[in-house]
Amino acid sequence: MVAQQLQRRGIRDQRVLEAMATTPREAFVPGVPASLAYDDRALPIDAGQTISQPYMVARMTELLRVEPGDRILEIGTGSGYQAAVLAKLGAKVTSIERLPDLAEAARERLRGLGIDGVDVRVGDGSTGDPDGAPWDGIVVTAAAPAIPMALREQLDPDGGRLVIPVGDDVQELRLLTRRGGSFEERRLLPVRFVPLVAPPR
Ligand code: SAH
Repeated sequence: MVAQQLQRRGIRDQRVLEAMATTPREAFVPGVPASLAYDDRALPIDAGQTISQPYMVARMTELLRVEPGDRILEIGTGSGYQAAVLAKLGAKVTSIERLPDLAEAARERLRGLGIDGVDVRVGDGSTGDPDGAPWDGIVVTAAAPAIPMALREQLDPDGGRLVIPVGDDVQELRLLTRRGGSFEERRLLPVRFVPLVAPPR
């Protein structure tokens, strides 16, 4: 997976490659044969949700430029795979999942694998986690119609990064970097994620 998919498609960050090489993806896709778990595609997890293809996890992780000790917020825990990769990089991860069953399964899976450093919480992540702000990085693994203002505001003013898929049917991955009161925005590549569900207001 690392050589054929990630390196070949341009993932260069050695620490990210190493983190992915040492995180057993098969443990995150229950019911999927181990022979398919490392394929270059998204796979179904429970509750109609999906775990992203390995390349997308690698790319999003690389964009976050995680340093050991960084405080990272993930929105959309799903299987817990992305959170596990972030924890392998030494991040202190808070991951929010709206579906309690998925959150509990992810928690147990991470515990079983001996991966600490991930705090899985049940709730709506569309407004981030202001109590934990400022965040060194925020990664959203579901697509939002627009970049939520609350997430921008929770980024560390000194270079905080937000990686988020934006759009409905047509989506693109964006990287926002905060410097003080200004935000540099890069539009990266077309993507396809399940929707970020916002509660009715
Ligand atoms: N990062 C996951 C894949 C996420 S799939 C992994 O590595 O496996 C997207 C997840 O976002 C789903 O589990 C979905 O339930 C969750 N989700 C959608 N809207 C959400 C919201 N508003 N708050 C928290 N989680 C949300």
